Amino acid sequence: MECNRCDEEAIMHAAYSGAHLCPDHFRESVVKRVRRRVRRDDLVPHDVTPEDPQTWVIGLSGGKDSVVLTQILHDTFAEDPRIELVGLTIHEGIEGYRDESLEACVELANDLEIRHEVVSYEEEFGIRMDDVVEDDPENMAACAYCGVFRRDVLSRYAEELEADLLLTGHNLDDEAQTAMMNFLEGDVEQIAKHFDASLGPLSEREEQSEFVPRAKPLRDVPEKEVALYAHVENLPAHITECPHSSEAYRGEIQQLLYGLEENHPGTRHSILAGYEDLASIAAEEFSGDDGAELQDCVECGSTTTRDVCRKCSLLESLA
Ligand code: SF4
Ligand SMILES: [Zn+2]
Ligand SMILES: [Zn+2]
Repeated sequence: MECNRCDEEAIMHAAYSGAHLCPDHFRESVVKRVRRRVRRDDLVPHDVTPEDPQTWVIGLSGGKDSVVLTQILHDTFAEDPRIELVGLTIHEGIEGYRDESLEACVELANDLEIRHEVVSYEEEFGIRMDDVVEDDPENMAACAYCGVFRRDVLSRYAEELEADLLLTGHNLDDEAQTAMMNFLEGDVEQIAKHFDASLGPLSEREEQSEFVPRAKPLRDVPEKEVALYAHVENLPAHITECPHSSEAYRGEIQQLLYGLEENHPGTRHSILAGYEDLASIAAEEFSGDDGAELQDCVECGSTTTRDVCRKCSLLESLA
């Protein structure tokens, strides 16, 4: 099959758009979608100057999503003195998984000549996820612990690096799954929070002074296309899954969406578009109503809704 835009051989076909694209036009279309998202989400403030640049911290795991995001943001902003990119890699202490993906991160950061920071749970908290899974004092899934520690590290380092924005490589499949999960859980306030934390255009979000805003500029690109982009560009991405991955419910939703997409191409796009519109309305509805009172954790001082934050109480039970 020929590319729709030139006479080259197509390497991909997107059922949701009908497009057949050659490597060059495929690359171009991915980059275009990411740049359009950066614009639509107002990620570059209008008054930013080269004298006082923005620091964008990218959560760089070494998987295809974060590697592709980093590469495209670098291609977009390397010559722009208003934006400085920093890669932040978290080492959870998972044998045979993170060591290799860390190599991919180091290689990419070297190639692109961007600043790269590596933080480990071991150094931060004196724990390794492999041991946490073994102990499991709270009888929870591995990701429930890991997510609490990751959020803590990300927000602390984002502050330390004076980040203006924290970017992650969530793709269209990830975000459509999250949207479906939030719908099915029926928690509208959660949807409103999602808008203010990472989804809405920066200029429309409710100010959250205690958290660095987040953004997901890869969320218009389906997972398969992200993988193909990494392959076409020969990026150092690491593919294996975390051995402790345990998000059973997400897996179920993922299968459901694969089936729907197969029979009704474009479903992921329409789920996410509708979800974002609803989230915007929900955010408006809940605006100014921040629910629980925020306070400082008595142990570590981080922002929390209780006396001792979740991270400190988990560390306590792991001690
Ligand atoms: S899959 Fe779960 S345990 Fe593994 S790194 Fe991700 S959050 Fe942590
Ligand atoms: Zn072409
Ligand atoms: Zn604490």
